Amino acid sequence: MNEAKRTRVVILGGGFAGVYTALHLEKALGRRDDFEIILINKENYFVFQPLLAEVVSGNIGMLDTVSPIRRMLPRTDLHVREVESINLKDRTVMTTPGLRPQPHVIAYDHLVLALGNVTDFRGLRGLAEHALPFKNLGDALFIRNHVIHVLEEAAIEHEDAELRRQLLTFVVAGGGFSGVEVVAELNDFVRDVIRNYYQLDASDVRVVLLHALDRILPELDEKLALYAQKILTKRGIEFRLNTRLKAATGDEAILSDGMRISTKTLISTVPSSPHPLVDALDLPKERGRLRVDASLLVEGTDNVWALGDCAAVPLTAGGICPPTAQFATREAKTAASNIVAAIRGGEGKTFQFKELGKLGALGHRSAVAQMFGINISGLLAWFLWRTIYLMKMPGWGRRLKVAVSWTFDLFLPPELVQLTLTHSMGMAQEHFEPGQEVFHQGDLGDRIYIIARGRAEVARQEDGPEVVLAHLGPGEYFGEMALLNKTTRNATVRCLEPLDVLSIPKREFSVLAANLPAMRESFDQVMKERRMATESRLRQVIGAEP
Ligand SMILES: Cc1cc2nc3c(=O)[nH]c(=O)nc-3n(C[C@H](O)[C@H](O)[C@H](O)COP(=O)(O)OP(=O)(O)OC[C@H]3O[C@@H](n4cnc5c(N)ncnc54)[C@H](O)[C@@H]3O)c2cc1C
Repeated sequence: MNEAKRTRVVILGGGFAGVYTALHLEKALGRRDDFEIILINKENYFVFQPLLAEVVSGNIGMLDTVSPIRRMLPRTDLHVREVESINLKDRTVMTTPGLRPQPHVIAYDHLVLALGNVTDFRGLRGLAEHALPFKNLGDALFIRNHVIHVLEEAAIEHEDAELRRQLLTFVVAGGGFSGVEVVAELNDFVRDVIRNYYQLDASDVRVVLLHALDRILPELDEKLALYAQKILTKRGIEFRLNTRLKAATGDEAILSDGMRISTKTLISTVPSSPHPLVDALDLPKERGRLRVDASLLVEGTDNVWALGDCAAVPLTAGGICPPTAQFATREAKTAASNIVAAIRGGEGKTFQFKELGKLGALGHRSAVAQMFGINISGLLAWFLWRTIYLMKMPGWGRRLKVAVSWTFDLFLPPELVQLTLTHSMGMAQEHFEPGQEVFHQGDLGDRIYIIARGRAEVARQEDGPEVVLAHLGPGEYFGEMALLNKTTRNATVRCLEPLDVLSIPKREFSVLAANLPAMRESFDQVMKERRMATESRLRQVIGAEP
């Protein structure tokens, strides 16, 4: 068949919905060549999210939850790029530039929207800067490395018992399946490996789960949820129910009831929001999800399909499908056969599926399951959980690897290697709450800070009481003196109003200052002015003292 006449199906997103749509489309292609499939995904792998929590504890290897999309979809043209925009009028999709600065524009005949949803911390002070999301492989690896990092730090913190306890406090927000699974794995991991840190006392470990409702796992029958709560409490997890996460800093989780938990590890599995690309589309939506009919066609269109977490798929019994992999994979089958019917002609299918059950792992060989209306818990549920998910993983090779990992894990201690993925923390956005110190006089100077929002005061203490030297606001910076003069901090900077800053590490700042003479001169000038203002302020205060 002439290539120009082939109908092009472009799928956005390589999760359960996108990959399984492409799998079914490839099957339908068979020996024919009447359409082509393009799948665009940020990563070149598919993530089996139900097992992500086990990556945090190292129960399975980090690559065991992912499969290369190219191997799963040999007849699909995979574009490993980020989708930047969708133009429904021109029927095109634009992806971000790769190694060359030109963006790609890809035309489509049929568009499949399978972009999932996103963790969105907007409107929650400090969460974007300090809470760790838990959604993809990168998040799971980051959390694992971070947890090992704080354990290493705690092990050598001999002087400050408060700081040691803060390092050993772990807070997870969100008591749905992913929050419960990650808190269970994290708790097991920390309490298990702490035996390798003879300097640390296991009784200093604190693991807290925050949940907005009066019980965890609202998707499950109450009895099972309470069983899960009881078993996790026995293992040392502290529950704070009817409590939301309100704000965060690098040192604290701030709760809706006003309580503050001192921690360096805050994981948040909530809130989930519509994908920004989906949000931007002028298409009908229900609570941010694209409204589709029972054939998975977006209402009001004849060539745009949507499924998975980004779509509001109607259930035959009323309501919309829950955002789970179980539904996304079944929706994919219906969408694929309807796309094929739209291309080749023929009868379309209606999406019909009744949920088979729900399963949640609780670590330590226990789980909860609700299968065909029957409640199962403990070891049997755990066995079911492992067997079902093992069989659902794509490819026998992957299943074998995971089965071997799980078998060894029954006898061997958990892996404790911390993988350092970057050389430096790089530029970062940070958030501080009133009263909190950004740095303290005498600290080592490791970063410079630029204020985006909020206010801070600069204070110095010499022989007498502390003297406030200056107030700083948006557009101003601080922390340069210690870096340029290679000294320790000569003042304390304290947050007055919720403060958002961009912080640049010493190494990057030194390269900039060394190579941009105009910048260095301007910093020297500001330092001179600040030094003079400080001396005058100190003279004023000392002069005013009785
Ligand atoms: C930790 C965790 C555990 C879970 N456990 C279970 C479980 O046990 N059972 C169950 O049924 N469900 C579970 N779920 C839910 C399930 O994973 C989701 O419902 C399912 O992944 C939805 O599939 P999707 O394809 O719609 O979205 P996703 O799987 O999120 O896929 C979206 C894809 O789009 C890509 N993408 C996003 N934006 C862009 C862009 N701009 N450019 C290119 N690509 C982009 C992403 O990289 C991703 O690959 C779990 C979810 C999580 C987070």
